Amino acid sequence: MMQIEVISLFPEMFAALTEHGITSRAKQRGLYQLQLTNPRQYTQDVHHTVDDRPYGGGPGMVMLAQPLAAAISDAKARLVAQGLSPRVIHLSPRGQPLTHEKVLQLKEYEGLVLLASRYEGVDQRVLESLVDEEISIGDYVLSGGELPAMVLLDAIIRQLPGALGDEDSAQEDSFVNGLLDYPHYTRPEEFEGLKVPEVLLSGHHEKIRQWRLQQSLLLTRAKRPDLLAARPLTKEEARLLKDVE
Ligand code: SAM
Repeated sequence: MMQIEVISLFPEMFAALTEHGITSRAKQRGLYQLQLTNPRQYTQDVHHTVDDRPYGGGPGMVMLAQPLAAAISDAKARLVAQGLSPRVIHLSPRGQPLTHEKVLQLKEYEGLVLLASRYEGVDQRVLESLVDEEISIGDYVLSGGELPAMVLLDAIIRQLPGALGDEDSAQEDSFVNGLLDYPHYTRPEEFEGLKVPEVLLSGHHEKIRQWRLQQSLLLTRAKRPDLLAARPLTKEEARLLKDVE
């Protein structure tokens, strides 16, 4: 079972992850355990202060080192006590971009500590002494690290064995083989004059597989040529692309 520790000023936001859909079911099945810690409980003043003005001036507030360091250290200690070697991750726009490869790499850790920060960010000394890596969910800035932490956790949890009803469905998703997913159709056969492609009604599994692969290639070439450029084509893929020229 994966042990996940999250440090956040808004722990109640994580109900979005634990109480809905696949990530909720995976928790009920015992695939992961989530421990939420509010760094406010580690403050040492009567006002439970978690932030202060930045040295050097400028706008916004910075998260104080002491409550975060104490919260991270305790979270790590809980995991170490279970014999795990946890990875400590800060969600930050300055981090490495989150990718499918990164998700596959992180799903191998049995213990994760995620720091979801707020304000202008975190005192740099916490990052230097206690954080192993920073991850960004994209080149834009959100108000806090809670949604990025949930994005990362959702992506990891759906990769844990037993999380998805149909074991194959994660294998067919976008990015798994370096391509975007093919188009999907369900009933009815005709909707507002638009028909389901004939081949999908044929029952011919090999033709369906080839059509889907061809569609994946065409979609990837049109929408994400960078993905195609980074990946050599098999003989079959090259032929399927040539067939539509
Ligand atoms: N001053 C920071 C900067 O420009 O890089 C932005 C701080 S942001 C308002 C507050 C927090 O939200 C960040 O510390 C981080 O935890 C989280 N956050 C915002 N955008 C993010 C992103 N794209 N990926 C991961 N975390 C993000």
